[in-house]
Amino acid sequence: MQENSKLLSIIIPAFNEQDNIQRTFHTIRQILNTALVPFEILFVDDGSKDMTWPRICELSREFDEIKGISFSRNFGKESAIFAGLEAASGACCLIMDCDLQHPPAVVPEMYRLWLDGYEVVEGTKSSRGQESPFHTVCAKGFYKIISKVTKVNMSDASDFKLLDRRAVDALLLLPERAPFFRALSSWVGFRTVSLPFEVQERTIGSSKWSMWSLVKYAIRNITSFSGAPMQVVTFLGWLMLLASVVLGVQSLYRYFSGTALEGFTTVILLQLIIGSVLMISLGIIGHYISRIYDEIKGRPRYIISKRCGL
Ligand code: UDP
Ligand code: MG
Repeated sequence: MQENSKLLSIIIPAFNEQDNIQRTFHTIRQILNTALVPFEILFVDDGSKDMTWPRICELSREFDEIKGISFSRNFGKESAIFAGLEAASGACCLIMDCDLQHPPAVVPEMYRLWLDGYEVVEGTKSSRGQESPFHTVCAKGFYKIISKVTKVNMSDASDFKLLDRRAVDALLLLPERAPFFRALSSWVGFRTVSLPFEVQERTIGSSKWSMWSLVKYAIRNITSFSGAPMQVVTFLGWLMLLASVVLGVQSLYRYFSGTALEGFTTVILLQLIIGSVLMISLGIIGHYISRIYDEIKGRPRYIISKRCGL
């Protein structure tokens, strides 16, 4: 086990990345061999529909450093990250995208920081790469909210992180079904340092995120960290109460002064406003109930159908 005490496990979630597997592996291998970093690579095939899994197995037969896990279907990147952490045997683990958008060139530096005693080395985005201005605005808004609710500055956070075994074990103890790796890895604490990196362009394949899936991702992660949206319901209730006092006084005044028949528009508007506020409130509460429902069922985060090299 002497060798394992310095081993770096690199966890790479891969979903339909057939053309990236080989290239990513060889790029990392060259850099880490030059820097004399002992490593293993754990590809987690997240239910890909293309040749991703056969390519991983092919590589794993050729190179001992390659290990692979394949999910029975697409469970999402977060699940893939946790499956990788669970299967990793290294003294530290690094999470990295399969499309080389997280530059492998900074890995030796992250590893060195770990050797210096840091337990969490966070890759932070010094630039967000090329994305639409709308995407940047939405992402900034999301990270502002999530930073507030987690009380961890997440504005430039990414999944590109190196974690010491102790931090990995702490993360794996968390029982939640829908973990948000990027925030939880900061939430667990430990001696942390950030290392800025520039997000590279994806050269092969395309991003797996649509606008809609990003919105769902944002809502899921905000509600997994905070009950604040439910306080919005209470706030709206108080706001409506205030409005009802004002309008109530006005109506009573009109009633007693004999001009009570007016106000049809007000009634319609009130109906519509109260109706929408009630529905939105029910929706927010319903969302939390469905999250509780998901958690309480206690289904596994992922199901592994195949392994290679493990
Ligand atoms: N990914 C995954 N499961 C998914 C979606 C994505 O494992 O359901 C992986 C994907 O293969 C890649 C990483 O997560 O290695 C980041 O995905 P992508 O490049 O599509 O995201 P972006 O860089 O656009 O945020
Ligand atoms: Mg990408």
